[in-house]
Amino acid sequence: MNASAVGTPVPVINPATAAVITTVSSATEAEVDAAIEAAAAAFGRWRAVAPADRARLLRRFADVVDAHGEELAQLEVANAGHVVSNARWEAGNVRDVLEYYAAAPERHSGRQIPVAGGVDLTFFEPLGVVGIIVPWNFPMVIAGWGFAPALAAGNTVVLKPAELTPLSALRLGELALEAGIPAGVFQVISGKGSVVGWRFVTHPAVRKVCFTGSTDVGKRIMAGCAEQVKRVTLELGGKSANIVFSDADIEQAAARAPYGVFDNAGQDCCARSRILVERGAYDRFMELFEPAVAGVVVGDPTDAATEMGPLITEAHRQEVAAFVPDGAPIALRGSTPGGPGFWFPPTVLAPVAPTDRAATEEIFGPVVVVVPFDTEQGAIRIANDSQYGLSGSIWTRDVGRAIRVARAVDTGNLSVNSHSSVRYSTPFGGFKQSGMGRELGPDALDAFSDVKNVFISTEE
Ligand code: NAP
Ligand code: MG
Repeated sequence: MNASAVGTPVPVINPATAAVITTVSSATEAEVDAAIEAAAAAFGRWRAVAPADRARLLRRFADVVDAHGEELAQLEVANAGHVVSNARWEAGNVRDVLEYYAAAPERHSGRQIPVAGGVDLTFFEPLGVVGIIVPWNFPMVIAGWGFAPALAAGNTVVLKPAELTPLSALRLGELALEAGIPAGVFQVISGKGSVVGWRFVTHPAVRKVCFTGSTDVGKRIMAGCAEQVKRVTLELGGKSANIVFSDADIEQAAARAPYGVFDNAGQDCCARSRILVERGAYDRFMELFEPAVAGVVVGDPTDAATEMGPLITEAHRQEVAAFVPDGAPIALRGSTPGGPGFWFPPTVLAPVAPTDRAATEEIFGPVVVVVPFDTEQGAIRIANDSQYGLSGSIWTRDVGRAIRVARAVDTGNLSVNSHSSVRYSTPFGGFKQSGMGRELGPDALDAFSDVKNVFISTEE
């Protein structure tokens, strides 16, 4: 390989301390091409692995991830600033997603459809090489949601972590080999989106791109994939509403609201960053919300008691801060530890005009707006007045209302009297400009397969 084909080392930073952890090589286009070609070469062998053997290899991969769970969690703490309690859950999620899809090779069956003159069968065929592009906010979890079902369906995978947060994904690539997944079947390539990620879009051997990230980049990926009618799944931004009706358990709704938006320092596509409160309960809600916000433990992510860590970079901290300019209507504010690291306190803005950019744009930081509403229809209208449609919550004791509002809110994932969005066994994804396609759950395999129909004549 000539000198220009070898990647340059890029520093990897701990966002809680601003210290350099290590350097990671940023792949060149020639290196990406070599990885894609290796994945294409491995595809024929991987799809031919007997279903039970592919299942066994994925279970073994899950076991190796489990055995290295603490190590993976600590990488996410150091590299992404995740609080350790979350990071441990995340390592467990990668294991669980692998285990869940390990059942698939033996169960992802086609159909036999009644026809005249013969037998008609459908087969799920793997696509080939799948390119997975991962953002920095949940590095290993989002990687796992892509590679586990992709591999289970018989594809080979090239995966690009965000250049800011490559460490856990690179380790998962090594653990796959340790588990016996054959070389070339699952490769992790760190580097720039414009080089590595874009090559997944343009290289003809990559037959599907699975992208999680910003809506702007997602649109470009989708347009690029159209050139080759390349399959694409998009998981993009959000501006989700947490709707609190006055008949709800207001104590619970207020106590839990901070964790619906400040988890991962608000760097969560599912963050409920707009709290809509029925006017009759507004004052009571704010009174109870105040100690709940003040009680969010912000600080050293390695401490098991910490609930919120830093933002990912200084540049991102400044982007978040721009949503809270001097004179912004700060109703409530939490604390930060100060010192080095990219800290921003939990911040509640109210009252905020519905047209204010804090109320309409994805902030991706610990900033939430609180907006009063007067009627059920009004709450639905405000919730749906967004280009996004990813997630949301509804707090009410009225079962009929919970279902009515859940059906009327145009988002992919809703929770009632809870802020839970994600279970590996249920589908996840967005409406409108929050994305296209679904990950997780029983149907994710279909997004990594094409249906083939075969008719066999029985005529003499
Ligand atoms: P981003 O800038 O769109 O980057 C996401 C990934 O795409 C990174 O790996 C990035 O690489 C890569 N990329 C950037 N430009 C590219 C290009 N031209 N071609 C191919 N790949 C390219 O998003 P982010 O700032 O990392 O993440 C935050 C966003 O992700 C938020 O909007 C958030 O809502 C969204 N998100 C959505 C979900 C979901 O499931 N819906 C989940 C998590 C995050 P580099 O950065 O390494 O250059
Ligand atoms: Mg970006």
